[in-house]
Amino acid sequence: MGVKVAKFGGSSVADGIQLTKIKDIIFADPDRKYIVVSAPGKRFDGDSKITDLLYLCKTHMEHNLPYEQIFQVIEDRYVAVALNLGVETDLQEHFDRIKENLKKGCTADYIASRGEYLNAVLIADFLGFDFVDAEGLILFNSKGKLMISETDEALREELSKHEHAVIPGFYGTDAKTGKIRTFSRGGSDITGSLVARAVNADIYENWTDVSGFLMADPRIVKNPKPIHHISYKELRELSYMGASVLHEDAIYPARIANIPINIRNTNVPEDHGTIITAEHDVANTNVVTGIAGSKDFTVIAIYKNMMSSERGFLRRILAILEDFDMTLEHMPTGIDTVSVVISNSTLDGKLDDLLEAFDKQLSPDTMEVFEDIALIATVGCGMSSRAGVSAKLFTALAEAKVNIRMIDQGSSEMNIIVGVQNKDFNKAIKAIYAAFTEDEVK
Ligand code: ADP
Ligand code: ASP
Ligand code: MG
Repeated sequence: MGVKVAKFGGSSVADGIQLTKIKDIIFADPDRKYIVVSAPGKRFDGDSKITDLLYLCKTHMEHNLPYEQIFQVIEDRYVAVALNLGVETDLQEHFDRIKENLKKGCTADYIASRGEYLNAVLIADFLGFDFVDAEGLILFNSKGKLMISETDEALREELSKHEHAVIPGFYGTDAKTGKIRTFSRGGSDITGSLVARAVNADIYENWTDVSGFLMADPRIVKNPKPIHHISYKELRELSYMGASVLHEDAIYPARIANIPINIRNTNVPEDHGTIITAEHDVANTNVVTGIAGSKDFTVIAIYKNMMSSERGFLRRILAILEDFDMTLEHMPTGIDTVSVVISNSTLDGKLDDLLEAFDKQLSPDTMEVFEDIALIATVGCGMSSRAGVSAKLFTALAEAKVNIRMIDQGSSEMNIIVGVQNKDFNKAIKAIYAAFTEDEVK
């Protein structure tokens, strides 16, 4: 007998109908012993995710606005599911405790985490599995960084005591203060990967609402081709760049333990989905494996004559960014130019201060700022061995009348990243997709 970890995302656990589907999936294979769940997500277009409603309660509290009605909507959703499934969990006791903590001024992380907590309690009852709380098992340091080996040890020890368990995704505990901490949004994927590593799973199944990874975001490209097999490396590039199917940090724990990840569709369980392993698919002759991107970056282009012979120029740029506690996305360089690419959320309104620091400490000839830039990555292990890939990409963008503001090619030659204006984001992705799927580069 083997061991499988199955994580079910928000839409897969959104209501009683979905929970019945996941029960069928779990009981169809006795190896599916450890189940990680998200909070209930959207049931239909325009519906609210429980996590969003919980954050909303907290924001209302902070502004002295009534939050009771919103909390009631949350309670009603769980109660309806319990009734629908005939589960007799005493939810009221949990709701009362959460409301009490809200009144005492709990943190946003605590309140957000209760979506997963309540759902895991309910689903454990529904399946007849043990409920194992992530509190005290998934550990963060005081900077909010996951303590990987301590978490692995704690999860391993606790889960060895349970043959079947449901674990809430998305959160853990600050090891020092004992307070609840969450991952960033979509973080239940990370919990699933950590659990898979801790129980030495044969496979980490990630059940969602699409039949695996598609070559591009289906909200942008109509019926994109599915990706049957992809390497961890390629996937990491795509997830980091914005393919939201799997949280970018969910790859590492599975990858170091060499556990394959399988993205599956709860609504079409017979589909095989995408399998993610260390090796890329040698049978796949496509040059490009996938295309992903995200909006809202700023490019600061710095020009200085003889820059390349000035010692320590790039180091000084990095030191300034470190002083501002800012992370850098990309830094493509030319002979006398360097572009600094930073996300708008990192800049957080400090662009003018940063430009002033660059001006003072680097004495550039000129600086040009391009705001509202979207980054798009075209990724594929097959790219490095084929000539003409960049030419094809740039021609496609030129024909679609998309201006390119920045180009960066990773040293692995597995990806080409272009910066375009936010408004051209969808158009550019469609053009690249069409260029690489209609007729392949030979
Ligand atoms: P879950 O709630 O199950 O974690 P997510 O909403 O986080 O699900 O991820 C699944 C969604 O990711 C899909 O519904 C789809 O809209 C979106 N998505 C973005 N890029 C891609 C892609 N390249 N392939 C498939 N889905 C994608
Ligand atoms: N419920 C959380 C969110 O909406 C975490 C998750 O679903 O993975 O971001
Ligand atoms: Mg997700």
